[in-house]
Amino acid sequence: MKLDGKQQPPQMNFDIDKDTKTIVCDTKRVDLEKGIEVECGGQLFAQGFELRRVSPLVSPTGKASVVPVPTFYCLNCGAEITEDKVQ
Ligand SMILES: [Zn+2]
Repeated sequence: MKLDGKQQPPQMNFDIDKDTKTIVCDTKRVDLEKGIEVECGGQLFAQGFELRRVSPLVSPTGKASVVPVPTFYCLNCGAEITEDKVQ
């Protein structure tokens, strides 16, 4: 099947090596042995889902329900990566 212009995936017009930056987890934790605060430094993340409960008052079905919101968390320390870490 031939793709027309509309079905093409979005073009990546940047260079992964030059134009992107690895996001590093900067969550602070206390190293109990040394008694100092250290940054996590984790660079691998996994996707999880935050579950948001929807009140019956605003739910389309009139019953309480749950909306899964995808989020990423650090595989090293488990901290959730929020958008302000990306800014
Ligand atoms: Zn971390």
